[in-house]
Amino acid sequence: MNNDLIKGIVNRAKEENRTLLTEIESKQVIAQAGLSVVETKLALTQQEAIALSKNIGFPVVMKVISPDIVHKSDGGGVVLNIKNEEEVVAAWNSIHAAARGRFPKANILGISVQKMAKPGTEVIIGMFTDRQFGPVLMFGLGGVLVELLKDVSFRIVPLTTFDARTMIRNIKGYPLLNGYRGRDVVNTEYLEKWLVSLSDFVKIHPEIKEFDLNPIFAYNDGAVVVDARVIIESKI
Ligand code: ADP
Ligand code: MG
Repeated sequence: MNNDLIKGIVNRAKEENRTLLTEIESKQVIAQAGLSVVETKLALTQQEAIALSKNIGFPVVMKVISPDIVHKSDGGGVVLNIKNEEEVVAAWNSIHAAARGRFPKANILGISVQKMAKPGTEVIIGMFTDRQFGPVLMFGLGGVLVELLKDVSFRIVPLTTFDARTMIRNIKGYPLLNGYRGRDVVNTEYLEKWLVSLSDFVKIHPEIKEFDLNPIFAYNDGAVVVDARVIIESKI
């Protein structure tokens, strides 16, 4: 674990009076807990976006990066499945136009370029700090299931593997992870390990107050964090 990298990101955010880390910073922080994240790079110019896309390999995803925009896909800040150079240019222009239209005051740092992850079962892992109980981890299914049905489970940190296992099995949608009606079976042991790693990670990093890994794409042979949002404490 590279604690200096985390310290650097946290200190810079504090200097800029930010508590919300950008997606790129958030993914760097979460990767330090041992989770695999979609490789994500910041492009400051259109040329850089083209070069990064070629480097990463098509298809790619581009997203607005701004400390002032919490929900990037609201109003056109995320473009998926970009297949060539022309589409990079089109996405660059449409994301900037959308951000200017919808969030005219937002400070746009650039646009992230990332690999388009292969589709999987969407799950989410979250953490918030309870005043009384300290850090609490949350697990749930992604997409409409979490938004509409609030099908999530919670555990207070620290978590054992057994806690993580029960947490995953306790959600109502668990059969969806277990091959329900011919769906892919998700490797839930892998997710259990992530929950335990995150529990250990937040214990040694109390400056991290909240995070939201939404979505994680889960597969039968692993998982990858596709979007991340980390919130740090406001005072040192
Ligand atoms: P938001 O800030 O609105 O939560 P996300 O980064 O989560 O934006 O992107 C919105 C949706 O786009 C995700 O829920 C996911 O389904 C899809 N998505 C985002 N990034 C990728 C990616 N790298 N590969 C594949 N799908 C992605
Ligand atoms: Mg998201």
